Amino acid sequence: MNPFPIVMSAPSGAGKTTVTRELLARRTDLGYSVSCTTRSPRPGEVDGVDYHFLTPSDFLARVEQQQMAEHANVHGRMYGTLKSAVQTVLDSGKHVMMDIDVQGARQFAHAYPHAVLVFLLPPSVEVLVARLIGRNTEDRSTLLTRLRSAHAELQDVDRYHYVVVNDHLEATIARVGAIIDAEMVRRDRVSVLDQQVLGLVQRLEQEISQYSA
Ligand code: 5GP
Repeated sequence: MNPFPIVMSAPSGAGKTTVTRELLARRTDLGYSVSCTTRSPRPGEVDGVDYHFLTPSDFLARVEQQQMAEHANVHGRMYGTLKSAVQTVLDSGKHVMMDIDVQGARQFAHAYPHAVLVFLLPPSVEVLVARLIGRNTEDRSTLLTRLRSAHAELQDVDRYHYVVVNDHLEATIARVGAIIDAEMVRRDRVSVLDQQVLGLVQRLEQEISQYSA
């Protein structure tokens, strides 16, 4: 297998975390790259599992030491992907799933051109707002910031290879899973394929000359 990065982006509230978590739980060929952030943990979030929660100075030190594959300011906080987190998963032979915003995805795709970029759309603005309010973690101004970010993020959908509308959780999980399966057999990812095709061509040539003799 030839593991590759899968970047999932979506406006907050589109259901990306749930889809990513479910795929990770259901598939043994996927690993997760835990991001760094300077935001505070939400109730139930665990340092090193959901994020590496860093102070702004710790975060900047890692940027300066070029440890980050990408980083961005999202909703007024810093978020970033450690190169080592990506590499560890790839080295284990698994595809690495990442949950990163559109600015980060752009940087990441530049550094890792073989990455697959998937954008998850909410089925409607009403659903998006309801999901954000339902989280109970958003005050009014945070909600407004996230809605503005969602508005901006939608302008970047064209940069993604795949766009999936998250109208039904199971269907979305199946669609993203199908994307991963299809990408695994994309010709330019299958390094042994050239050899295999060459072998078949040579054998066919032998058969053809035998039958035409
Ligand atoms: P949240 O604070 O709700 O967990 O995430 C807010 C936003 O930050 C989401 O859009 C999420 O995709 C983005 N995000 C999470 N991790 C990273 C990362 O490592 N890099 C970048 N650029 N964005 C991230």
